[in-house]
Amino acid sequence: MELDLEKRDIEEVEVNITNCKSALSDSKLESDYSLNPYTGCSHGCRYCYSPYVTKEERSWGEFVDVKRNIPKVLADELKRKEKGTIRIGSVTDPYQKAEEKYKLTRRCLKQLNQKDFPTIIQTKSDLIKRDVNILSDMKADVGFTITSLDDDFRKRFEPDAPPISDRLSAIKGLKDQGVGVWAFIGPLFPYKNDDIEDLERLKDTLLSLGVEEIYLDKLNMREGIWGDLQKLLDKETIERYEDIYFGDDDYFERKKGMYDKIGKTVF
Ligand code: SF4
Repeated sequence: MELDLEKRDIEEVEVNITNCKSALSDSKLESDYSLNPYTGCSHGCRYCYSPYVTKEERSWGEFVDVKRNIPKVLADELKRKEKGTIRIGSVTDPYQKAEEKYKLTRRCLKQLNQKDFPTIIQTKSDLIKRDVNILSDMKADVGFTITSLDDDFRKRFEPDAPPISDRLSAIKGLKDQGVGVWAFIGPLFPYKNDDIEDLERLKDTLLSLGVEEIYLDKLNMREGIWGDLQKLLDKETIERYEDIYFGDDDYFERKKGMYDKIGKTVF
C-alpha cells in the first residue's frame, strides 16, 4: 500500500492572524479553565479528534489561526476570574511550529505566572524547552505525549510532530530545571503501539528521565478518523479494527489489565 508520509513545513500551513474575544473557557477536563492560543494544529496527527470536539469544518492540519491578542485578553480576564487551574493545549498543541514565531503561549505563561494561576500544559514539542525558566518559576506541570519509542510510528501517525528523541530530551531538560513532568501514552493502537514489551521499554525510559506519572488512553474512533486511518493501515489490521470498533471484539477490555501495569488508564 502506498502511504503519504511526506513531511510538511509550517510554510505549507495556512496561517491566519485573528483576534479573540475571550481567552479562558470553563473546563471539565481535570482543570477549571482551558486556554488555547491557537486554533488548528500543524502537527497533523492522523488520529486527532480535535476537529470533532471543536466542530471545525476546515481541513485539520492545514491551517492555524493565531489569536494575536490573547495575552492581553487573558491578562484582563485573570483580574476578574476566580483562581483555578488552567489547562493549556486541550484541543491544539500550544508549542506547535507557529509558537516559534508568535510566542503566544510564552506570553500567556508570563501572565499566569504573575497572577499565580496553577497551569497544566500538554504538548508533543521540544520547543517548550525555550520557556523552561518561566515554567520553573511558576506552579506548572507539563504533560508530554509519547505514543511510542519507534520514530517510524511517529512519522506515520504524527507526521509533523517533533521526533520522539527530541521529546525525550525535552523531558530531561525540564526535569533538570525542577519542572514537574507526566507522560501520556496515547492513543494506543491495537496491534501497533501496544505491545507489552514495547510499552514496558517506554515506561522504563520515561521513569528513568524522572517522569512522575504515566497515563494511557486507547485510540478513540470517529467516522472521519477511520476514513483517514484506513489509508495508513494494512488489510489485516483494517479487518481487526473493524471487529474492535464496529464489531463485537472486546479488545480493550481484555487488554486493560495489561495497560494498568504501565500507568493509569483513562478509559
Ligand atoms: S498535537 Fe494534538 S491537537 Fe495537534 S494534531 Fe496532534 S492530536 Fe491533534
